[in-house]
Amino acid sequence: MEFTHTINGLAVSSEGDFEVIDPATARGFARCPDATREQLDQAVAAARRAFGQWRRTPAAERGEYVRAFAAALRASATRLAPLLTQEQGKPLAAATSEFLRSADHIDVLSTIDIGGELLRSGGRDKVELHYRPLGVVGAITPWNFPVVLAVWKIAHAIYTGNTVVLKPSPYTPLTTLKLGELARGILPPGVLNVLAGGNDLGAWMSEHPGIDKISFTGSGPTGKKVLRSASSSLKRVTLELGGNDAAIVLPDVDIPKAAQDIFWGAFNNSGQICKAIKRIYVHEDIYAPMGNALAAIARATKVGSGMEPGVQLGPVQNRAQFDIVNALIDDARRQGGEFLSGGEPLPLPGYFIPPTIVSGLGKGSRLVEEEPFGPVVPLIRYVSVDDALDQANDTAFGLSGSIWTVDIEQGRALAARLEVGTAWVNQHGGSDPHLPFGGAKASGMGHENALLGLRDYMQLSVVQSPPDPSAPAAK
Ligand code: NAD
Repeated sequence: MEFTHTINGLAVSSEGDFEVIDPATARGFARCPDATREQLDQAVAAARRAFGQWRRTPAAERGEYVRAFAAALRASATRLAPLLTQEQGKPLAAATSEFLRSADHIDVLSTIDIGGELLRSGGRDKVELHYRPLGVVGAITPWNFPVVLAVWKIAHAIYTGNTVVLKPSPYTPLTTLKLGELARGILPPGVLNVLAGGNDLGAWMSEHPGIDKISFTGSGPTGKKVLRSASSSLKRVTLELGGNDAAIVLPDVDIPKAAQDIFWGAFNNSGQICKAIKRIYVHEDIYAPMGNALAAIARATKVGSGMEPGVQLGPVQNRAQFDIVNALIDDARRQGGEFLSGGEPLPLPGYFIPPTIVSGLGKGSRLVEEEPFGPVVPLIRYVSVDDALDQANDTAFGLSGSIWTVDIEQGRALAARLEVGTAWVNQHGGSDPHLPFGGAKASGMGHENALLGLRDYMQLSVVQSPPDPSAPAAK
C-alpha cells in the first residue's frame, strides 16, 4: 500500500518518513510520510480557502456529504480493517466494526438540527441565537481508536461548516491517511486535509495562527500542552483526555452476568479505552466470588495477534505503553497485590499482556491512582457504599463511572453522586451520537456528540432586534 498525506484534495508525499511498528510482532511493517512545517502551512491555507465556500453550503447538504463519507467508510471496512489491525493490534473483527460503527455514528450525528434558536419574541424585543462555524479545525487523535476518533472529529467539524486539518498518532497513522484518501473523491478539495507526523506536528498545529480550534483526544499531560499553546491565539479547544473510571458493584448483583459485563467494560481493546473500567470496587460480601468469576473469564479469553481467528484481545499498542503497564504491574506486586489472573507478559515478540486482575490494593498504589491504559485492573474491597463512592471520586480524573445493582432506582441515585461526565447503571462504555460525551475534572473540557458537542464547533451570536410588527406589544 502507498501512504500519502491529503492536502487540498491531492495526494502529497514528504521527503522524510518514519517506521510504523506492528505491535503483534514488534517489527516495522510500513513507512509513513512525515509532514513538514511547510506542509502544515499548505494544509492550513487549503482549509482556509475551502472554508469560504464550505461555510455557505447549507447544513443539510453538508450532512449529505458526511453521510456519503460514511458510506465510503462502510464500503472500505473489509479492505482497510487488516491495516488497522496491523498498526493498532486489535482483532480483525473489532477493526472491521470500528469502521462500521464510525459510519453508523456519523450517519446519525449529521441529522441533528444545528440551526439557530428563537430565545424570545414579543414584548420589548426579538432575540435569536445564531450559530456559525469557527473556521479551520485542527484535529489531533490518539492510537487506541484511530478510526472512530478521527471520523467523529471530521464529522463534527465539517457538518457544522468548518474545514479540517487532521493529524493521527505517529503510532497509528496509516489508516487515518487512508481516510483522507477516501475523502478525496467525496469532499470538495481543502475541506479535509490529513497529515501524518510526529508529536512536533501536533505542537505546531496547537500554536498555528491559521487554526481556529483544536479538537484533541489524548493524554492529560499533552492536553495541558495543547491548552497552553492554544492560548497564544485564544483558539477554541475541546479536550477529551484520560480517565480512571470506577465501577462500584453492590452485593445484590447476579455475579456471573455482572462479571461478564464488567470484564469486557474493563478489558475490551486490551483496556486501551479512555472510558474503560479501571478500578472495580466490590462489596465485601461478594468480593471473593466476584474476583473468581472475573478471573475465570480472564483465563478463558484468547490473547494473540489480531490477525489470528478467534483472538479476543490483541497486544498493547506500543512499546512505551507496554513498559508503563508492566511497571504498574511490578509496582502492584511490590505493594503486595494478589494476582487473580495474568501478571506476566506473554513470551512472544509482540507487546502481549494477558488480562490481569489484582486484588488487595488500595489508595496509595499506582495501579489504583494512575490510568493504566492497558489490560490490568485492581479489584478493591469496600464495606459501605458511601465509602466506595468517596474512594471512586477521590481522583483528579472524572471521565465516567458505573454502579452495578439490581435495584435500579438506588443505582441511579448512586450514579448521580459519581463526579464524572457520564455515569452508567449496569453498563459501562458505549457511545451514542445523541448523548453528549465529555470529561469532568482533569478528564477534559467541552463535549463531543449530540447538539452540545456540535455546538462546541460553532460560535454563538446573539441577535437582538425590535419585535416583529405583529408581535403583541410590551406591557
Ligand atoms: P498522547 O497525548 O500521547 O497523544 C495524543 C496525540 O497528541 C497524538 O496524535 C500525539 O502525536 C499528539 N501530541 C503529542 N504531543 C503533542 C503536543 N505537544 N501538542 C499537540 N499534540 C501532541 O496520547 P496517546 O498516548 O496517543 O493516547 C492515550 C491517551 O488518550 C489516554 O490517556 C486515553 O485515556 C486518552 N483518550 C481519551 C479519550 C477521550 O475521549 N476522553 C479517548 C481516547 C483516548
